[in-house]
Amino acid sequence: MGRVLVTGGAGFLGSHLCERLIEDGHEVVAMDNRVSGRTENLEEVFYHDRFSFYEHDVTEFIHVSGDLDWVLHLASLASPVFYSDHQIKTLKVGALGTHKTLGLAREKDAKYLFTSTSEVYGDPEVNPQPEDYRGNVDPYGPRSCYDESKRYGEAMVRAYRDEHDIDVRVARIFNTYGPRMRLDDGRVIPTFIKQALAGEDLTVHGDGEQTRSFCYVSDLIDGLVALMESNTDTPVNIGNPDERTILDLAETILDLTDSESGITHEKRPPDDPEIRRPDLTKARAELGWEPGVSLEDGLERTIPYFKKQT
Ligand code: UDP
Repeated sequence: MGRVLVTGGAGFLGSHLCERLIEDGHEVVAMDNRVSGRTENLEEVFYHDRFSFYEHDVTEFIHVSGDLDWVLHLASLASPVFYSDHQIKTLKVGALGTHKTLGLAREKDAKYLFTSTSEVYGDPEVNPQPEDYRGNVDPYGPRSCYDESKRYGEAMVRAYRDEHDIDVRVARIFNTYGPRMRLDDGRVIPTFIKQALAGEDLTVHGDGEQTRSFCYVSDLIDGLVALMESNTDTPVNIGNPDERTILDLAETILDLTDSESGITHEKRPPDDPEIRRPDLTKARAELGWEPGVSLEDGLERTIPYFKKQT
């Protein structure tokens, strides 16, 4: 058991991770600037005696008093809709925020987690994507603020590992969903569930033949904890390999919500990746982890949360 800082602690993944770490007996310090995170997400743990919350922007110098055993840097604007509206902030949190949190980890002699992304692979030319695939990213493209900030973040983590001997972990997180995603998140699962519950048409971009592989949040959190407990200081894919077309996802959500909604096709956003699926060979071998929740089960657990929000 130790004392752990979680940046982005009021966000979708951050809040689930804070709960898990409290359950595991750790003392948790959550930090969030509440741009996309919300303190309501932390209501289960907010008044716990091993929990504290700091409102702070990680792109500014970070001071945390006392010891820290782990620094887990989850702060990020992860939705394409959000990061397109906040490109500079997105670049700063991946670059300056990663630098500041690494500096803190060095000061505290703490183990460090960087939450990177499948977007480092861009619009991939190989499927599934193994960690040694170098990606296909347009550095000046519409998604580059996110992709490049995470690629830069990985390079900074590598540099701190090599020059300052920090014990680092890098998770490349693939599409994840579950309760506590925002209704206005803009990503496909909250959008489709919201539309299905409201009886509105589901807005499939393009013909819907593009694919994603969706991981339920509890599996993702288990993967992050397994990574922290492993000895792997190089990037590891964390996600679910069940690859689906967006059209299949839309039909599945219509079915599970018993919705009368139809489907309309809208223009595909530029640079939207065509395929995405994690190669989990490394995660299975080095973390002894793989996801267990099917898309249908995960959606069944997520839909009631969105019903309560609407
Ligand atoms: N998408 C869609 N309709 C929507 C929102 C998203 O068809 O209302 C598509 C989007 O174009 C992409 C996929 O769903 O092909 C996943 O998009 P999301 O924004 O969830 O995440 P991404 O994997 O692109 O970061």
